[in-house]
This record gives sequence, structure tokens and C-alpha cells, in this order.
Amino acid sequence: MPELPEVEHVVRALRPVVTGRRILAAELNLKRIAPHSSRGSFNRQLRNALITGVGRRGKYILFELESGQILTTHLRMTGKFVSLTTDQSLPPYAHVIFYLDDERRLVFCDMRQFGRMRFIRNAESLPKELTTLAPEPLSDEFTEEYFLETLRRSRRSLKQLLLDQTRVLGLGNIYAVEALFLAGVNPMKAANRLSKPRARKLYQAIRQILREAIDAGSTLQIDLADGNARYFGTSERFWRVYEREGEPCVNCGTRIRRVVHGGRSTYYCPRCQKS
Ligand SMILES: [Zn+2]
Repeated sequence: MPELPEVEHVVRALRPVVTGRRILAAELNLKRIAPHSSRGSFNRQLRNALITGVGRRGKYILFELESGQILTTHLRMTGKFVSLTTDQSLPPYAHVIFYLDDERRLVFCDMRQFGRMRFIRNAESLPKELTTLAPEPLSDEFTEEYFLETLRRSRRSLKQLLLDQTRVLGLGNIYAVEALFLAGVNPMKAANRLSKPRARKLYQAIRQILREAIDAGSTLQIDLADGNARYFGTSERFWRVYEREGEPCVNCGTRIRRVVHGGRSTYYCPRCQKS
């Protein structure tokens, strides 16, 4: 499942392909991809829409339309966009097709069908799942003060708090585990019991991990022109602790442990992450 840094790269790949393009016609072939609209209204609302930009909020991709309307897309497990010329045939699982004014088609494919699109009237009527998101982790709004206050107000474990996108945005299981390791803090510790110096370290670690992941994006295989390509899972990524149970810690050589915590696998070094 793509995490925030991967979605950021999808947005960057989409931008030059769709910005300034007009959707001549839209074709929703699988109703469940856009459960808030009928197929007819989805197609009608997007017909002749001019795409002025592509943004991102958390893992939501936002297509900004000239009318002020927004089309949101969440890739979930296997959703992906491809951009096809007229002579390329449709790839499998092509559930939504946008016919663009440069004769290309932007196609949303999704093998597992969990991806979702939603048409929104304007920026003021964003759905709750978007407005309740915590500040963007690499933006100026995600300040150290905000983070320290968020920790102070929670008795949940650090691991659980870091995964709550309404408190701290952008960390899925992998990046949460890596950030906790980098900061040298115990994932099971209650958030409000973390010392200030360690909380500051964790704040820095979160930003560093996400920045690293975005910078490493060149290893991702996002090729919008290849209908059969997989976006993710092809790149070899070196994780510090994630999925390294039983292997020696990169810092101290102690064996990495795995515990199931809050239903998710957590990996940590029992020596480097004592407190
Ligand atoms: Zn260690």
C-alpha cells in the first residue's frame, strides 16, 4: 500500500501530464470507485472540466478544476493512474477513463477496487476525512510545539499515536517504526510520558524519515505511460528495523524484536529503544 511519500511521487508524475488539460469526456465504468455519485452525474460533472493543478493532502490526490471544484482520489491498495496514447489498448482493471484534449487518456486502474474518487463542489465543502487530517508533516504548520502538545495530551502508546492520521499525518506502519528507531524511543511507551528531549528527537526523526523517503523516490517505478507497470514494490529499500526481526541492530548489534501491537507488527531494538 503506498504511503505518503509514494503518493507525493504519483502527484509529481501526474502534474505535467494533466495540468492545463481539459477533460473532454469522463467514463466511470465501475460505480464503487466513486460511491458518492451516480455514473451519470460523475461523467457529467467532469465533462469539459479544465484541470488547473494537482495537489495532495495526506494520501489524497486532489485534481483542482478551473470551476473551483475538486476531484479527490485515494489509491488505497492497488489504485494507479496511467496515461495512454490513442493507439495503446486499455490495461486491465481500467475503471475510470478521462479523455483529455491532447488525445491522451488518463486511466485509473485498480485491481483490488478499493481506490476511491470523489467529486467535491469547492474547497469549503471538503469531506470530514480530509478536514480532520493533522497538518502536513513537512509543512510549516507541523511545528515542534504542535507535536509536543499532541504527545502531552495522549495516553496512547507512541506507536498508536503516530499511526493516527488526525494527530500525526503521513506515517504508515513502516515509517512509524523507522522514526521510533531513529529517535531511539520505545514504541510501547505512553505518549504523555515521553521526555521533552526525546519528544524533540522523535519530531526530527519523523521529518527526516519522510524527507528521506521522498528523496529516495527516484527508485520508484512510476511510469504513467506503461499500462502494465506496477507503481510500487519493485524498488529495493533498506529499512533500519522494519521486517528485520532477529537480525542485528545497525547501531548496536542486538537482535531486532518484533511484537504485535495494536494489531500491527512493530519492530524495535530492545537496547537502543529502552525508554
Ligand atoms: Zn540497537
